[in-house]
Amino acid sequence: MRSIRRTVLIAAAVADAAAVATGVSAARKRDVPPPALDGELRFDQATRDATADDFGHLVGTSPDVVLLPGSTADVAATICWAAKRGRTFAAQGQRHSVWGRSSAPNGVVADMSTQRFVGRARGDRIVVGAGATWSEVLAATLPQGKTPTVLTDYLGLSVGGTLAVGGVGGTTWRHGVQSDNVLSMVVVTGAGRTITCSAEHHPDLFDAVRAGLGQVAVITEATLALVEAPQQVRRFVLSYPDLATMLRDERLLVRDGRFGAVQGAIPVAPSGGVAFQVDVAKFFTGSPPDDGVLLAGLSDDPAGRKPSTIPYPDYLDRLAGLESALRANGQWFHPHPWITTFIGDSRVEDVVDDELGRIDPAHDLGALGQIVLSPIRTGAITSPLLRTPAEELCFAFNFVRVPTTADRGNADRLVESNRAVYERVRRNGGTLYPVSAFPMSPEDWRRHFGPAFDRLREAKRTFDPDHVLTPGYEIFEDGPRRIVEGVPRRRLSRR
Ligand SMILES: Cc1cc2nc3c(=O)[nH]c(=O)nc-3n(C[C@H](O)[C@H](O)[C@H](O)COP(=O)(O)OP(=O)(O)OC[C@H]3O[C@@H](n4cnc5c(N)ncnc54)[C@H](O)[C@@H]3O)c2cc1C
Repeated sequence: MRSIRRTVLIAAAVADAAAVATGVSAARKRDVPPPALDGELRFDQATRDATADDFGHLVGTSPDVVLLPGSTADVAATICWAAKRGRTFAAQGQRHSVWGRSSAPNGVVADMSTQRFVGRARGDRIVVGAGATWSEVLAATLPQGKTPTVLTDYLGLSVGGTLAVGGVGGTTWRHGVQSDNVLSMVVVTGAGRTITCSAEHHPDLFDAVRAGLGQVAVITEATLALVEAPQQVRRFVLSYPDLATMLRDERLLVRDGRFGAVQGAIPVAPSGGVAFQVDVAKFFTGSPPDDGVLLAGLSDDPAGRKPSTIPYPDYLDRLAGLESALRANGQWFHPHPWITTFIGDSRVEDVVDDELGRIDPAHDLGALGQIVLSPIRTGAITSPLLRTPAEELCFAFNFVRVPTTADRGNADRLVESNRAVYERVRRNGGTLYPVSAFPMSPEDWRRHFGPAFDRLREAKRTFDPDHVLTPGYEIFEDGPRRIVEGVPRRRLSRR
């Protein structure tokens, strides 16, 4: 039965007092009582503060209220409530953003992890709650012999959180991003309407939600495409003497499609310099593939090949060991000033070479950090709001920085450096993957979206006219004045 919990009423009184400080009269707030919910609203400081930080540990602001939704109806009712109070609303999946993008200063954040139901795989699809993580999805599909088409390297991200940004993985070069492989979604718009959208029904909304940075709707449920899961993976980590040779093989591998997953990396070498590697995976069930055929014509160093045959679930969970190590040594909790971009094939070699010349790898990436340099056929990407270079082939070009220090000054230096990297990438026709740690102004976003900006703005006008949703990206400057103004993001201090 729906109920307004006692804690809500007590906490609402506390929040009324707080509202005076932010310029909203307590009387006005009392005019808008909290909605009746299946879940609950939490107003206590500890819960609010716990939602202020993200994986970047760089900026963050506590919300006024935290929603633990018990249903899609709760999300709708609370968005309407936030709007009436002149507040914003942001969904939070696993808070693995890196620049406060899931925050709602003075507003409401929804902890979507309460919406993590995972149905049974039925044929080529499965229905899941947006708060489910990809590992939870896999726990349901793999026993049924099925897998999502594209999986992020790290499986602890929420379905809603990655559909909101895109979701890049090892098979993206062929199958696009995760938001290209969602069949339909139940969403709640900024106007509080619950709509099921897909390529056939409400396609404008569907296209504005996929990789749409949470600007027009909150996803509460997603129907994901599934394919047959292979049982085994023949995996090689190929080593290259230099960037040019590595890129040559990446192009070749994408052209002939002999491997299912192709991912390039430039990790920090033990010597302090960098190494050039391509991680390739051949998925199979039954007889193993012929190594001679798989590796024919490649220019890597045969002595440096690291072959392995591993169960498919172990391959998917390949970052688990690194996560454990970083949690154990504390680096998981350090600031993560990441920058993630896409650079076109025609400029990739010059741009990456130039950036490598500018960095001190051990200092700027950290001994366990790396630059990602993975090929993607841009034609595989169909989410209109995911911006990629205007070339047939591009490369995910990411600085996955894992600082060995929590020093704030070091993090600030790297954030500044991110801005400079972005400018150089952009000048060379590259685009941003918006999981990056540096400020973006509305003008930056307009430039980023380019011809797609009008489409996003139109969708915003239609579905979130009061600019209630997901203020953390700071994309629009022409929305109605909301109470977030005057609440600067708090810089998190983690010395
Ligand atoms: C260790 C690590 C590994 C990563 N690996 C990859 C990778 O391999 N590939 C890749 O593409 N990315 C990767 N990322 C980046 C990651 O995909 C994004 O940061 C993603 O947004 C995080 O998902 P989340 O569930 O933590 O979302 P959050 O950080 O909670 O939210 C991200 C954004 O989405 C919005 N949002 C969250 N849930 C919803 C919803 N239900 N409806 C609408 N909007 C919503 C939030 O408001 C916010 O703006 C990685 C990040 C980390 C920290």
